[in-house]
Amino acid sequence: MKVDYIIVGCGLAGIAFCEELRRNKKSFVVFDDASQQSSMVAGGLYNPVVLKRFTMAWKAMELLKMVTPFYTEIENNLNIEIVSKSPIFRIFNSVEEQNNWFTASDKPLLSEVLSDKLLKNSNTNINANFGLGEVFQAGKIDTVTLVNAYINCLKKEEKFVETSFDYNKIIVDKDKVQYQGIEADFIVFADGFGLKENPYFKYLPLIGSKGEYIVIESKKLKLKGTLKGSIFIIPLKEETYLVGATYDNFDKTNQPTEEAKHILIDKLKTMIHCDFSIIDHIAGIRPTVKDRRPLVGKHPIVTRLAVINGLGTRGVMASPYLAQQLFNHLENRAELDSEIDIQRFEKLFIS
Ligand SMILES: Cc1cc2nc3c(=O)[nH]c(=O)nc-3n(C[C@H](O)[C@H](O)[C@H](O)COP(=O)(O)OP(=O)(O)OC[C@H]3O[C@@H](n4cnc5c(N)ncnc54)[C@H](O)[C@@H]3O)c2cc1C
Repeated sequence: MKVDYIIVGCGLAGIAFCEELRRNKKSFVVFDDASQQSSMVAGGLYNPVVLKRFTMAWKAMELLKMVTPFYTEIENNLNIEIVSKSPIFRIFNSVEEQNNWFTASDKPLLSEVLSDKLLKNSNTNINANFGLGEVFQAGKIDTVTLVNAYINCLKKEEKFVETSFDYNKIIVDKDKVQYQGIEADFIVFADGFGLKENPYFKYLPLIGSKGEYIVIESKKLKLKGTLKGSIFIIPLKEETYLVGATYDNFDKTNQPTEEAKHILIDKLKTMIHCDFSIIDHIAGIRPTVKDRRPLVGKHPIVTRLAVINGLGTRGVMASPYLAQQLFNHLENRAELDSEIDIQRFEKLFIS
């Protein structure tokens, strides 16, 4: 079998790269063994603002422009609904925070995404004595529906192999790569935290940050958008909400923990005061990087192997841009954005 590309990983990074290939009429096959699940547990929020400091997120406006067209095209092609443009409401904890917000909302760029009105809390089940601020141009992608539907479509097209990719079985020739009888021009690794097992790219400083959510049901809460206090409360379907997430740089397993559950319940109780029941608890490892920038580019020696990783906490917004960058780099020799190019870590590579 001969294809243009083999892709390892079908999370947000792999899907975004597949979309580039599909649009450019390239043939490909995708391997995934469900060993990582960051994209399956993600809150799916796209949000241009760092809500701790009221600053713009990395390349926020540039990335934001790509989000809706990118995911809407997938919605149309797969006949699914995954995009919801719902606002985020930030709870203020003090007058000082209110002042910081309004100072920020006067600044260029931030003025486009931060409301300059102080919203009074009208929901008696929420604790927000100092009011709320609204983030515009935010929303949510249903990443579970996206990943499941995408994999189903690839299966129908016989482009999906549901098995572990064995990195040691790659055969590198001068003008192609081979893997278990499949010949390709390039292998692209979109393996998330699985990169730690990847002998070609494990030199890169991927740290990984475990995150956990609880899913609650609450008939009384009745939120009209995502609420951000010490944690996020994200409306799902039928009076259920995603509540989280935690950050843990030490535990690298995908198993939910009792400790995180209690932390989330305690924080939730400071934000709301109505009854709720916990109906699920999930965990995954965010592929975070030492310098908080993505990891994109070709292997320093085996240049038919490439990586798209390090999506960090904002995979929904970053993935379409990173996929476009990598595709143009591999196909058109375009230079990569230096902030994402793995060349910045060349000193860590020992051949
Ligand atoms: C709790 C939590 C909340 C988050 N909330 C948000 C949010 O609200 N908004 C946002 O934008 N981002 C959020 N993120 C971050 C987001 O989930 C990630 O940035 C993104 O999902 C990473 O995508 P990925 O494709 O790189 O990795 P993954 O989703 O982990 O995908 C990697 C894939 O590679 C496969 N794989 C790995 N190794 C192999 C192998 N050897 N063989 C075969 N397959 C392999 C895995 O099975 C997996 O499917 C959150 C993350 C977590 C954990």
